[in-house]
Amino acid sequence: MDFKKLVEDRHEYAKAWKKRTGGKVIGWFEPYFPEEIAYAAGALPVRVLARHEPDYISDKWIYASCYPVRDITNLFLSGRYDYIDGIVNVEGCQWMYNAFEVAANNNEKLFNFYLFLPDYTDAPTSKHATRSEFQVYLDRMEELTGKKVTEADLDHAIEVYNTNRMLLRRVNELRRMERTPVLGSEMMNLVLADQVMDKAEMNKLLADFLAEAEERAPDKDRIRLMLIGSETFDTGLEELVEALGGNIVIDELDNGTSYYWNNVFPMKDRLMALALRYLGRPHCALKDNNWRRRPQHIFELSEDFNIDGALVAKQVYCHPHGSDSYAVWKILRERNIPYHYFERGVKLPADETSARLEAFMNMLKPGLNHLSGWHKAFGE
Ligand code: SF4
Repeated sequence: MDFKKLVEDRHEYAKAWKKRTGGKVIGWFEPYFPEEIAYAAGALPVRVLARHEPDYISDKWIYASCYPVRDITNLFLSGRYDYIDGIVNVEGCQWMYNAFEVAANNNEKLFNFYLFLPDYTDAPTSKHATRSEFQVYLDRMEELTGKKVTEADLDHAIEVYNTNRMLLRRVNELRRMERTPVLGSEMMNLVLADQVMDKAEMNKLLADFLAEAEERAPDKDRIRLMLIGSETFDTGLEELVEALGGNIVIDELDNGTSYYWNNVFPMKDRLMALALRYLGRPHCALKDNNWRRRPQHIFELSEDFNIDGALVAKQVYCHPHGSDSYAVWKILRERNIPYHYFERGVKLPADETSARLEAFMNMLKPGLNHLSGWHKAFGE
């Protein structure tokens, strides 16, 4: 299965889905969006993915913002998303909110909904506020689709999404293997495709992929890296790493492992179950406030997946990650995990990035990481 092609053809896929089912397509902007609610209402939730195209538009609306925000603005205003029926933004990155607002303000026919989700996800009242917001969103979806959402609809959506996350976790487990046969670029394409497809359909593809991947022979020895930082929408970086003999065996990205890390635990109050799931997902940089979970989560992933080093890649102008990087650097330093930090822009400058990655990777030796004592070997 060519997941990269699925990502490239995502507009055609959604248009065909719409024609086939007569359902509504809902574009979502932020990782805390409760897709199950849209799915239960018979809609197709698709993540709005950035893709760089010649851009003569976004400067007029959004100046000095990260490339995902500018590219998404350009895609909406140049008509790439004209088939979409509605957009939803969940309280999160204010720069992404700008892209949402510009898209909504330039198309009055577009259904739009701003969903508040507390930045203090662990506060005692957060779950009640979130549940209440989910209820308002559910009511709006019922108005939009004309479908009364029953408890059975919510149960079905939760089941499909839980299965999806479980399958993604199972693929991800293969990345723990010493010479994992799953490349980082393949995994990222798979997760990106997952975010723009009907999950029931994707689950069948994932089950087939898993059966095939489990039978693969181990890959050659590669330097095992972890990717941390701002979200990405392509696999340029993963492919560069692979060309240099490395492999990104785990990531901590909003559109990577954080997307599928935790499941919904069934409860009688379905909306509360969903609220707890979204509040309990790995914190994004912006919502890691009161009780810091993100650095510890990153450290646990680094140990579980036995990495040799980490790449911390921030989008230029990404303020949430810019202001959280200190905590990431701190835990990596404290735990003797070598890392390379850099900023990425509209397009990844291949030669420059490749030279930097090569220099970093040359300092690492596969299998000789902080667990097995590289710091001792190098006299640290
Ligand atoms: S989190 Fe960073 S990269 Fe993502 S939309 Fe916000 S500013 Fe841009």
